[in-house]
This record gives sequence, C-alpha cells and structure tokens, in this order.
Amino acid sequence: MSRHLISIDDLDRAGIERILDLARSFAEVSGREIKKVPALKGRTIVNLFYEASTRTSSSFELAAKRLSADVVNIRSAGSSVDKGESLKDTVRTLSAYDPAAIVIRSPWAGAAQQITGWTDAAVVNAGDGKHEHPTQALLDVFTLTQALGGLEGLRIWIVGDVLHSRVARSNILAFQRMGATVTVCGPPTLIPRGIESLGCAAQDTLANLGEADVVYVLRLQQERMQEAYVPTLREYAQRYQVNRARLREGQIVMHPGPVNRGVELSGEVIDSDAALIDAQVKSGVAVRMAVLYELLVGAPVLQVVA
Ligand code: ASP
Repeated sequence: MSRHLISIDDLDRAGIERILDLARSFAEVSGREIKKVPALKGRTIVNLFYEASTRTSSSFELAAKRLSADVVNIRSAGSSVDKGESLKDTVRTLSAYDPAAIVIRSPWAGAAQQITGWTDAAVVNAGDGKHEHPTQALLDVFTLTQALGGLEGLRIWIVGDVLHSRVARSNILAFQRMGATVTVCGPPTLIPRGIESLGCAAQDTLANLGEADVVYVLRLQQERMQEAYVPTLREYAQRYQVNRARLREGQIVMHPGPVNRGVELSGEVIDSDAALIDAQVKSGVAVRMAVLYELLVGAPVLQVVA
C-alpha cells in the first residue's frame, strides 16, 4: 500500500485482503468491554472535515481513539476556514503538530491528493467531492465479506445518483477487484458517460434488478446538483426507488447513508432484515482502525490484539 490512501487504486487485491484481516481483529477489539489497544499511543491524528459528515467523522474519531492516538477534530464551520484561511495554510498549520495522519473530507475532487504535497503526515481520503471515498468501499467489502463470506462471483447493482457519487466510483473499483460483477443503474442524466470503461455494465431501468445478489442504493446528492437532473423526487421514486415490490426474496440491500427515506429507498426496506445499513456503520470503525494501522504501523495482524 502506498503511504497514503487516496483512491482504491492505491490497493491491489492483496492489500484489500490485508485490511480485511486487520479489520476482523479490530472488530473483535470493538466487541470487548474495553475497546482500546495501544497501537498508536503517543501519535496524533487530525480529522479535517470541510463537508457535512456523521458516520465517517464519528467512526474515524472512534477508530483513532480505540488505537490510543491523540485526536484533533477540525470542522470547517467554526474554524479559521470560516475566516478565509486557505486549505494549504490550514494543512501547514495543523502539520506543525507533527501528526502521523491527516484524514480529510472535502467538497473538492483532488483535495486529498493535493495536500500530500503540503504535509509529512500520511493522508487518508475521507471523501473528496465526487471523486472517491475509499474507506467507504473498504467497509462495504468488509460488511459483505462478513455477511456472505466473500465477493467472488457476486452480482452487485449500484442504483441511483452515480454521477455525483464518490462512493460509486470507489465501490465499483473495490467490488470488481474482489471478484464481483457490477451493474450501475439510474436515469441516464445521473449515469456518467463512459462509465463502462471502469468495467461495469449500465442500465436505465430496474427491470432486471432480480439478477442482483446485492442492491447497493445511492443517495440523490442534491447538494451537488446545480440543475435539474430528475423531474421531481416523486417521479424519481416511482421509477427508481428500491422498495419491497421491486426486490425478490434473498436480495441484500446496502446504502452508505445518509438515506433520503422514501426517495431512493423505502422505509420498510431500510427497516427490514434485508438491509445491512447498520452493519455497514459498525464496520466503519473496525475498517478505519485497520486503515490507520496499516498506514502507520503495518505490522503483522497478530501483534495488533496481543
Ligand atoms: N456518506 C457518503 C458520502 O459522503 C454518501 C452520501 O453522502 O450520499 O459520500
């Protein structure tokens, strides 16, 4: 694995498998009463979030704390970013604390890569615009591996706003690398032209959804839409909502959250046993512990929990 985690392309299949192995150990730690190991004791991790986040920010914070690191959490709102401080000056300032890692979320595609030039810290991309969200993809692979044993031969449909989704991009790469075949589905306005070059198929109706083993639903990213990509939310839901009537017995449903309940996914499916959404959130902590560990320590798994 490279020194940073910017894209799923920083990892080959063996690298992903190493992180899954580590995550299994850390999931065990998270099941203990005392959920802490000393792996990063005395080291500092900065979480720099320039965009809204619930799951990713809380799980990176918990992951760093469960590894015994000192953690600094910066949100753009309420920080000197509000006073106009540039990304470069902010990163330089925080790097003065000599952090081992900076975890960054930003609305700008390419921001995570860019800051690697301004700091000695390892950089972890926690979502950069519509580019990538590699730790989301890793926790989804982990969740599926826990539920089904692996991804080899699985048929996974990714349904919804693929155009604005960094999760779609990272997950297409990661799912395929682990042996699954991927189909993306949504209105033509929300499917990027040329997406097939990533190796996936594209569909513009849910007619063949029954062939999917896993239905991975994406949020309509209205904050990234400057124009109307769908006529109305109601019409979108009529054609593309994943609901009970459209699913067959045995299909697994995933969503990275936050869900627009009743738009891309019906409430009854969210609350059903078919949905792995809570398991995904839980996996987030163990997988982010694994990523921080792999980048900052990189020793054999057995030493982790000793
Ligand atoms: N939480 C995910 C992300 O930050 C998905 C979403 O926001 O729809 O990309």
